Amino acid sequence: MHREKHFCWFIFDNDQLLIEHRDGQYMVPESLNPPVPLSFKLDVSSPEKENCVVAIPEPGVEINNSRYFFTSLREAWGFLDSGLYKIAGRAAQILYWEMHSRFCPVCGIPTQQTTPITKVCPSCHFEQYPVISTAILALVRKGDQILLVQARNFKGTFHGLVAGFLEAGETLEECVAREVREETGLTVNNITYFANQPWPFPSGLMVGFIADYVEGELVLQEEELKSAAFFDRAHLPELPRKLSLARKMIDWWLESNPSS
Ligand SMILES: [Zn+2]
Repeated sequence: MHREKHFCWFIFDNDQLLIEHRDGQYMVPESLNPPVPLSFKLDVSSPEKENCVVAIPEPGVEINNSRYFFTSLREAWGFLDSGLYKIAGRAAQILYWEMHSRFCPVCGIPTQQTTPITKVCPSCHFEQYPVISTAILALVRKGDQILLVQARNFKGTFHGLVAGFLEAGETLEECVAREVREETGLTVNNITYFANQPWPFPSGLMVGFIADYVEGELVLQEEELKSAAFFDRAHLPELPRKLSLARKMIDWWLESNPSS
């Protein structure tokens, strides 16, 4: 018996993802045809899930029924299960790359796509792949306290962890030590890997490390940080949302340092 193939549609209008609300559940549309007319589509299937398509709707498309709505990728975390959210993040990163790799950066002529994650210049044969920016997160412990900061680029009023991009020629541990020193004036040691997380805003990988305070007084890098301080578990400020690796690290610290 022939069964028609259904596709999982990851439809992005700029940073807004189309969500379907059906039978009390939230998901991305899964159907033979997309629920809105498209101007662009690209297969982003992976071993985790086949028949996934990332797409852009035709300009000016409006949703006129309560079954579908657009929401930002960050907000979609509240609607989709973790497996689907991970694929949505992957789709968003590939779409971002697609939109930013249309011309060869060497000679400027239009590129040709040869695989879902490879483009080649037909003239000079320069190859492009999705660019993933690696950044570190540092949870700095000092006795029964941790260092929390408010960065100027945080979306919200919460306090998070020291973060920064890896530089050329640097190890991740060197990056942690440098970012903590540059942003707060503090020296740390015992830098140990915790976990990592794809961060599709727009195309990054966050790598988390635990470190211990050694010495120094807090001196803020004003261009990067609004505030920074050490907090104990009884006096924590507003924390990042559970979506983020930073929050997982803070939660881990809370669970591993129960109050007496
Ligand atoms: Zn070229």
